[in-house]
Amino acid sequence: MSATIPASVPQHINLAEARAIVRTLVSSRARPIRRISAESAAGRILAQPLRAPSALPAFANSAMDGYALRAADLPPAGERSLRLIGRQLAGATPAPAVAPGTCVRITTGAPLPAGADTVVIQERARLEGDTVIVGAGTAAGANVRAIGEDFAADAEVLAAGRVLDSAALALLASFGVLEVSVHRRPRVAILTTGDELVPATAVPGFGQLRDSNGPMLAALAHSSGAEVVAVRHVGDDALATRQALHELAAMADVLLTSGGASVGDADLLPQLALQHGRVHFWKVRIKPGMPVLAAEFESALWFALPGNPVSTAATFLGLVRPALQQMGGRTPSPELHAVLGQAVSKSHDRAEFLRGSLRCGADARLVFTAHARQGSAQLSGLAAAAALGLVPEAVHELAAGSVIEVLPLPELWP
Ligand code: AMP
Ligand code: MG
Repeated sequence: MSATIPASVPQHINLAEARAIVRTLVSSRARPIRRISAESAAGRILAQPLRAPSALPAFANSAMDGYALRAADLPPAGERSLRLIGRQLAGATPAPAVAPGTCVRITTGAPLPAGADTVVIQERARLEGDTVIVGAGTAAGANVRAIGEDFAADAEVLAAGRVLDSAALALLASFGVLEVSVHRRPRVAILTTGDELVPATAVPGFGQLRDSNGPMLAALAHSSGAEVVAVRHVGDDALATRQALHELAAMADVLLTSGGASVGDADLLPQLALQHGRVHFWKVRIKPGMPVLAAEFESALWFALPGNPVSTAATFLGLVRPALQQMGGRTPSPELHAVLGQAVSKSHDRAEFLRGSLRCGADARLVFTAHARQGSAQLSGLAAAAALGLVPEAVHELAAGSVIEVLPLPELWP
């Protein structure tokens, strides 16, 4: 069955155009926000900037083990004797105030006693009875962590759109922030299609193979910040596929289908998208993955990805991942570029995703080296890859050392 495409549907567009269409589609959608506990916030995306509710550190404290004293008592040269009047440990009761000519033994992180403004490290002093002999060479104010030197009260601590990673969680705890506003994770439903597919638990019969795109897409969606709400399979049956799309669209923000997106006899999805959805583009000038289609089906955004596993992964990384990150409110990762480790050539005008490795070259630039196995059905090439290298469209030859965009595989380079 070959679909009749209205002239209003962009076809055979390039990757940049497809990305721009998807960006616009996503930006017009609501981005719900949730309040969640800091305890459960690891990996989530902050929806509102966090300002410091108080200064950090909250009190002046010692950066070293030594003696707290007044800068006026520092010897300009030689040595000076000060009377030791107490001890300030971290978390202990307050030591007496430091008056002229006295000092207090202090440990790292302990609050600076009243009157003191400088810490002389213990290596620059010696203790004789209750007298501390302080050597020269310490600057006024040295070894003191000032109030608010990390964050002043009300300073921006974390920007909206940032991942709540380990450092962000450390800050939430430091400020006693117990709840945060995060973006709801985009809900993704996955539907693999194809009469030839059986689940991983089954033994394939004649001409059958196990469904590998279901678990692969689920892992890719998860590592792109999405919540995977369903992974299902249907045969090449228009009615069953339509029914499944209805059910999945009711529970998801994004539908990912694999297979049946091209113009083969069993490729039903473009027809279904045209009849029951709003198609935004079909076919992008990329290799592999040309037949990819983007549509809206009911209230869900739908990416119909081609079924060859490498095409599925490439179209996901090139188009779906940026969309999921945008939907999830994440500040876009900067584009990553690398130099080609070898010359590459291609005989077509489409942009090409090459599977390859990434390493740091002698000049400290990232080097992408394409692997020998580039078949779009070959999982071996994908499994050995750290990234996809994007050879731009219209280019037929690229010399070693040329700079190209690379799409890192998200689980290896989150
Ligand atoms: P299609 O895009 O439906 O024409 O499928 C292209 C190729 O990808 C065929 O060889 C399919 O058997 C294979 N394929 C499609 N879907 C999957 C899947 N979920 N897992 C593994 N291979 C698939
Ligand atoms: Mg198929």
